[in-house]
Amino acid sequence: MPVVKDIFIALSNNKFMNESAKRMGPALGANKVVAGVDIDSTIETVEKLNMKGISCTLDNLGEFVTSRQEALEAQQNIVEIMRRNYNANIDAHVSIKLTQLGLNIDREFAYQNTREILLKAHEYGNTFVNIDAEKFEDLVGITEIIDRLKGEFKNVGTVIQAYLYDSMNIMGKYSDVRLRLVKGAYKEASHIAYQTKEEIDQNYIKLIERRLLTAKAFTSIATHDHNIINHVKQFVKDNNIDRNSFEFQMLFGFRTDYAYQIASEGYNFCMYVPFGQDWFGYFMRRLAERPQNINLMLLDIFNKKNKGKITFGATLLAGVSILIVGGISLLKKK
Ligand SMILES: Cc1cc2nc3c(=O)[nH]c(=O)nc-3n(C[C@H](O)[C@H](O)[C@H](O)COP(=O)(O)OP(=O)(O)OC[C@H]3O[C@@H](n4cnc5c(N)ncnc54)[C@H](O)[C@@H]3O)c2cc1C
Repeated sequence: MPVVKDIFIALSNNKFMNESAKRMGPALGANKVVAGVDIDSTIETVEKLNMKGISCTLDNLGEFVTSRQEALEAQQNIVEIMRRNYNANIDAHVSIKLTQLGLNIDREFAYQNTREILLKAHEYGNTFVNIDAEKFEDLVGITEIIDRLKGEFKNVGTVIQAYLYDSMNIMGKYSDVRLRLVKGAYKEASHIAYQTKEEIDQNYIKLIERRLLTAKAFTSIATHDHNIINHVKQFVKDNNIDRNSFEFQMLFGFRTDYAYQIASEGYNFCMYVPFGQDWFGYFMRRLAERPQNINLMLLDIFNKKNKGKITFGATLLAGVSILIVGGISLLKKK
């Protein structure tokens, strides 16, 4: 299992694969988990989800931003989606990644880009802006920027990754800031993060309970894990916690029926909806989390209608073949 996870994580970090994939548009099953490449199709998806009582947080996909120009384009895309959301009067906000806004180019530049987004958010109905958690190596930069912004803006929030040993302390700093709690999606070293599912789940539950009992701001519990979700439902009931102080979140395309069911039970529910050309890294991280998601890829490859799209170049095909063989053998072992 860890080997398969490592392969997918390595692919997600491969710049050449990401660039090649960007040129061809979502393929290999990614179209099931990416709402669309453009804003129009993304807004259509949001409207459908809103009709089910589900709000959305939109992620303008983007990896490997290395120039100021790319970071500024990402910023403009994010502002544009906020403008379009506002004009379409849909229930959606944005989730942004500071690496996409130039964090690894120049921290001050990334701060200014993010601040500009928050100023525009104010114009567009004071919409909420979530700053996603990324790799541990980016945590200091992300935290520094959030600490500067949270004094000036009320509509900014961030994410706590339960796999980090230090997550409880980090969360403690943000009791008055809207937070999303997740298990954590990247591969981190054992001196930084818990490695086993049991340890991560245990810490995740501790964080959720502490947060729901003590926070002065809204909380998003972002997981597809029914054991955690059931635990939370029972915990809020036992502790008389206001349902409007939190929501559940899931990623678009995963456990959709389950998401609809939770929303229909009267819980606040928000779907994380990624869109854009830069789908590859995001998709590989989803496969790393749950290699069974390789089903999405297999179904698409064997769907004759899509045969023409599978022209990714020799390197990607070779990589994908290895993944498929690895995935199938993993599934057989289960
Ligand atoms: C809305 C949202 C936002 C996120 N934002 C961030 C972020 O900013 N930074 C970050 O590092 N990570 C983020 N993540 C990813 C997160 O950290 C986890 O990597 C990811 O959610 C997988 O963990 P899990 O909690 O879903 O449970 P897992 O431990 O992956 O799954 C637990 C169990 O749930 C069931 N299950 C899970 N998925 C499925 C499925 N598709 N079908 C059927 N059963 C399933 C299985 O029984 C599985 O054993 C986000 C996740 C979500 C949902």
